[in-house]
Amino acid sequence: MNLTSRFQKEMIRSELEEVVGQNFISTGEAEQLVYSVDWSWMPQMWLDRGEPLRPPDFIVHPGSVEEISEIMIIANKYKIPVIPWGGGSGTQGGAVPIYGGIILDVKRLNKIIEIDERTLSVTAQAGINGTQLEWALNERGLTLPHYPASANCATLGGYLAPRGTGTISTKYGKAEDLVMSMQVVLPSGHSMRTPPVPNHASGPDFMRLFLGTEGVFGIITEATMQVDYLPETRLFRALLFDDFGKAIEAGRQIMTKRLDPLVIRLYDPNSTKTRVKKILGYEYEGAYMVIGFDGDPEIAALQEKKALDICFAQGAKDLGSEPGEKWFKHRYDFYYPPRNLKLPWMYGTTETVATYGKMEKIYWAQKKAVEETYKDIGVTYIGHFSHWFHWGTMVYSRFIIENPPEDAQEALRLHNRVWNTAVTASLENGGMINEHHGVGLKLSRYMRRQYGDAWPFLESLKKTIDPNGIMNPGKVGFGF
Ligand SMILES: Cc1cc2nc3c(=O)[nH]c(=O)nc-3n(C[C@H](O)[C@H](O)[C@H](O)COP(=O)(O)OP(=O)(O)OC[C@H]3O[C@@H](n4cnc5c(N)ncnc54)[C@H](O)[C@@H]3O)c2cc1C
Repeated sequence: MNLTSRFQKEMIRSELEEVVGQNFISTGEAEQLVYSVDWSWMPQMWLDRGEPLRPPDFIVHPGSVEEISEIMIIANKYKIPVIPWGGGSGTQGGAVPIYGGIILDVKRLNKIIEIDERTLSVTAQAGINGTQLEWALNERGLTLPHYPASANCATLGGYLAPRGTGTISTKYGKAEDLVMSMQVVLPSGHSMRTPPVPNHASGPDFMRLFLGTEGVFGIITEATMQVDYLPETRLFRALLFDDFGKAIEAGRQIMTKRLDPLVIRLYDPNSTKTRVKKILGYEYEGAYMVIGFDGDPEIAALQEKKALDICFAQGAKDLGSEPGEKWFKHRYDFYYPPRNLKLPWMYGTTETVATYGKMEKIYWAQKKAVEETYKDIGVTYIGHFSHWFHWGTMVYSRFIIENPPEDAQEALRLHNRVWNTAVTASLENGGMINEHHGVGLKLSRYMRRQYGDAWPFLESLKKTIDPNGIMNPGKVGFGF
């Protein structure tokens, strides 16, 4: 529905107001501006160049699951989009209301319902801020080991909806590996809970259907997450490799020998020379790697020793523990002012995940494609491998253009072209187009290609769950 008529808009507003109360709905210009842009480069650049964005028609702040259900019923009746909004820290445009409609900000659902110290779990509402949840757990000697760099500005629901990954996920798992059960409100307004445990054999695991759907199948309103004890010890060590391929091989061996590292952070030589130097002040030639282990001091020390042996066998030089500890302490500085990438620069994170058999080839193919195609406009390609699995790893690859076109439309086109070059190199070599930032708006157009003959199945699920196409249209590949 195109809400062109003011009368129509006022009618809908008054219905929404009856649900959430006058204080919790807004159509003001300032709020509309704030909620028309998330953390992704495209809308930020667009606004920065003075171009208008499509604002949401209504911003609602429901205070309960029942209110969310009522909002869904209204949206379905009028066939207007509903866009779930957590912290708005997503980098793919997932929360941007490209067709207007209702921004449904979940942040008033911010309560911790239960901390179960025997099970080691926390149940909380989906709008709780990541850092506030962490502080509450820390008071009990516990931690939610999903540590994204955006914890200060992201919500629990926002961790799960795009299948996020944290700094120490290599040991503790991604947000989706830590979730035990969820409550979800469907587009119909029906609210439901998934089974109380994540591992069972009582039919299909439909909880996972809502992970990675970024609000296109419904709204996550509550989640029970596994937590851990705060570790007794945490050890970090830094290494330097002349040969980047050998560094990747060292990481592969640490994982396939199941040494259970907390983190393996491997910067390619270009990142080491630029970002590591700028943020940590180290001037290294080669590929800088940080490995970390935690938990029981004796076990962690042994794991570290075994991992170091693997690295030395691959030709690594030991830099000691100080440059490893410094990295962990400053790990978020890479993403925040004053040292983060920012406008007027053009940048994009074209991260990719793949099996060990394919990963190195993908990295070199992406780098070559981006550097060769855009050498005349001064592109820099950097990458680091941050999340490792038993079967493969991911590259957090980025392109940076320091002098992009002034004109907004031209800049947008160039951004899409560079991204397309990187994504194509990844897809052609067997990669998955992203590991943790989600699809959002930016990668929506690749979903059909990524999934091939499985795509009609996903489309049919969407049509069944959301027949009116009200949930976050234009995202995750669903166009209507
Ligand atoms: C400085 C910075 C650092 C970052 N570091 C990391 C990192 O280390 N790891 C990582 O994974 N990501 C990172 N990100 C990306 C982003 O912060 C994460 O994806 C984050 O988890 C998003 O949470 P949010 O609450 O801000 O979600 P939003 O941006 O509000 O929403 C993201 C998507 O999820 C949907 N959504 C939000 N809440 C719900 C809900 N309750 N139910 C259904 N759908 C919902 C939205 O509609 C949107 O599509 C970073 C971002 C920034 C700005």
